[in-house]
Amino acid sequence: MRIDVLGVGFDNLTLDEAIERGAGLAAGEKFSYAVTPNPEFLQQAKKNEKFRAVLNGADLVLADGIGVVKAASILGRPLKGRVPGIDFAAGLLGRMARSGERLFLLGAKPGIAETAAANLQKQYPGLMVCGTHDGYFQDPRPVIRAIQDAHADVVFVCLGAPKQELWMAEYGPSTGARLMVGLGGALDVFAG
Ligand code: UDP
Repeated sequence: MRIDVLGVGFDNLTLDEAIERGAGLAAGEKFSYAVTPNPEFLQQAKKNEKFRAVLNGADLVLADGIGVVKAASILGRPLKGRVPGIDFAAGLLGRMARSGERLFLLGAKPGIAETAAANLQKQYPGLMVCGTHDGYFQDPRPVIRAIQDAHADVVFVCLGAPKQELWMAEYGPSTGARLMVGLGGALDVFAG
């Protein structure tokens, strides 16, 4: 059962439980996507019905900000804790480095995803980054094709909200990837 905070249902998981769940989705048969809403997402979702539906339609909804955890607590439906998107991503990266699953990095300004890939491969020996693409494109088709051609299992989608969530929900299923995770500015962080 999800915990409702201002119209968005959150999975009540610790960070470790979320990583476990994410790894399961990545190894699954069908397409899944994960979202990491913070309070700004909830404000946007209040006004944007499509965005709200896409958040609630995610296979994993993680409470990224302490604000979400506090709000849940005030509403009398406490969450186990916050699950920062960047920590969730780190957990998945460790798992992927061991499993050999293929990671595609999508988003940020040109050149950033490549630098992020190089840094992550140093930090997680064995990690297979199978492709990258910047986040400033108009036509989704070449991006979908790049993800297909790279045979990506997992895609970190870093286009900012709500663009990344709408993109994952609309185009994710046609990419062949198993798990997409919306991670905002994570590639800028990984690129250092
Ligand atoms: N971005 C992108 N394409 C766009 C708009 C934004 O790739 O059309 C990238 C931007 O370069 C940044 C990330 O999306 O790397 C969003 O970062 P921001 O800190 O705004 O998002 P947040 O983490 O706050 O959701």
